[in-house]
Amino acid sequence: MKFTRTSLPSAASSLALTVLSLGLFSTQPLRAAEPAASANEGTQILKWKDGKKAAFMLGFDDSAPSQLQNVVPELEKRKIIGNFYLVTGNGLYAALKRRWEAAAKSPYVVVANHTFTHKGVNNAEEMEPELAKCNEVLDALHPERKQPHLLGFGKPGGVPWKVTPEEQRVALEKHHLVDRPPFAGPPINYKSAAETIAVVDAAIAKGEMRQLVFHGVGGDWLVTPVEWFTALLDKLEAVKDQVWVTDVVSWHQYVTERSSAEIKTLKADKDSISLELTCKADPALYDLPLTLSTKVPADWKNCIVTQGANSITVAVHEGAVQYDELPGGGTILLKRAE
Ligand SMILES: [Zn+2]
Repeated sequence: MKFTRTSLPSAASSLALTVLSLGLFSTQPLRAAEPAASANEGTQILKWKDGKKAAFMLGFDDSAPSQLQNVVPELEKRKIIGNFYLVTGNGLYAALKRRWEAAAKSPYVVVANHTFTHKGVNNAEEMEPELAKCNEVLDALHPERKQPHLLGFGKPGGVPWKVTPEEQRVALEKHHLVDRPPFAGPPINYKSAAETIAVVDAAIAKGEMRQLVFHGVGGDWLVTPVEWFTALLDKLEAVKDQVWVTDVVSWHQYVTERSSAEIKTLKADKDSISLELTCKADPALYDLPLTLSTKVPADWKNCIVTQGANSITVAVHEGAVQYDELPGGGTILLKRAE
């Protein structure tokens, strides 16, 4: 990116600077990466939900019992989302089935597929039931969900996984599974609370997504001490205005939708702006609203944002309004309000 602060057009605001930095991470040139030519064309898709600087994910593998004991209550207390990569076909899970069923009712416990047995696979044929049978159990935890829907997937470690990347890609797509991105975690990769917390600062510094994966917390195996874990949660709470802590499916949906999203200004005058937001992702699976920021005329103080039957009033901040809307969800209407 060759722009510097001084070479920006004079109309550039801090918003435009944000947008330029967004361009660095886009796989495709978004229209949003261009400085706004006028108030009518000033809508940006923000890099992360709610305009946060970075995204962060917490993963917990293997249905380790210490997670029920030491992780779930802390996440609930602090309203922080965790991804639980469950192995649903072994004796360990069977023994704690009721407790996982109860935990899965929490909005802060997002269940994901870590295969049915965690024994690994020797070929693509063996992968099929490992994915399908785990999904069956996960779906039974959430009978209210519409089908199809996406679920997260974490490949089991330390066991054979003899399939090609293409065989895995096809199978994951068939079962509507989202492969989690590369990760690291304590105590293997990070040897102290401070090293673990530094991953959050790195996410903010780079404006990127980072992910930490845990096994045992305060017990079981590959144990992270409880104090490290709570120190990390303290940190995430302290930076909650800057970091979007989310689940793997929402992260994937946001990034996928954003990468092919387009905004058209249909009409704009001194009292209203109408826009159309579209993206190329399948709306049956990709239904997460994106966060937009639209520049509005200088004399607007508040703005009513309407899409379909949904309407909210948002305050104008530094000449722009920020709001969430669904790609392909119909015309977005912004109206001046007092
Ligand atoms: Zn595992």
